[in-house]
Amino acid sequence: MNCDKCKNEAVYSRKYSGENLCSRCFSNSILRKTAKTISKYNMIKNNELVCMAVSGGKDSLVLLDILHKMSSNHNFRLKAITVDEGIPGYRDEALEIAKNFCSKLNIEHKVYSYKDLFNLTLEESLQLRQNEKMSSCSICGTFRRRAIDHAADDINSDVIATAHNLDDTVQSFFINLLSGDTNRIGWMNPDTSANSLRKIKPFCEIYESEIVFYAFTNEIPFQSEPCPHMNEGIRTEIREFLNSLENNHVGIKNNFYKSILKISQIVKNSNYKQKRICPSCGNECTGKICSVCDLVLKLKESKT
Ligand code: SF4
Ligand SMILES: [Zn+2]
Ligand SMILES: [Zn+2]
Repeated sequence: MNCDKCKNEAVYSRKYSGENLCSRCFSNSILRKTAKTISKYNMIKNNELVCMAVSGGKDSLVLLDILHKMSSNHNFRLKAITVDEGIPGYRDEALEIAKNFCSKLNIEHKVYSYKDLFNLTLEESLQLRQNEKMSSCSICGTFRRRAIDHAADDINSDVIATAHNLDDTVQSFFINLLSGDTNRIGWMNPDTSANSLRKIKPFCEIYESEIVFYAFTNEIPFQSEPCPHMNEGIRTEIREFLNSLENNHVGIKNNFYKSILKISQIVKNSNYKQKRICPSCGNECTGKICSVCDLVLKLKESKT
């Protein structure tokens, strides 16, 4: 079977469009689609420094590769950071892969650890929590957001890029809905142009399966070992449910994503909260103190 765009042999069949593509045309299509998302939401402006959060997994390494290719003919600069949560036996391999890939692309790379920033590794935090209602991923996610903000500020970047894909967005929507956290749905909108610290997700319109194929066909090494806490939350079940829906109804995740865009815009408009400054650490927050200080306090209380 030949590629629909050139005479090369096709290696990928895109079910939702019916296209058959060779490796090069497939990769170009991902690059073009990412560039289109970036330009649609004005994600990166002229001469900006982009802080790319690289975990060592497939999504972030593929996005780094694509942003690196784009930076050669667009006017922006790129640096990479990795957050080390302190998960024994898991993060070390990913750190090595991230470090080597950045050095291959000649991209400056820095590591920030929870231990240095919060004086607690993730494992230490898990020992301190009173019960498992405080899930590993919610503790980890709260610390990670702050660690990335800190890193972006430390390297003087203008914008933070993360590699969340379309599947991640649809899964997160379900998780927020099922946990009753409707405020978060308002934060899911990809248009962050009005925020003081802009966080962009250039892969928000790309299926996870296509990112995996890009990594394979471009021989990008990535960590395949999952985090030992990955199956503690509900995300894996939701991922499997959505994948089975997509198998039976091609394009359904994409339709869902479009609905999320509309819903998140409505929630965002109706839920505007005045930002305050956290009296404890000086970061922006919407409550009395920020979520990180609140978490650290709760963990320390459990200790006493
Ligand atoms: S799966 Fe959960 S605990 Fe593991 S790195 Fe991701 S957010 Fe952290
Ligand atoms: Zn082709
Ligand atoms: Zn705070």
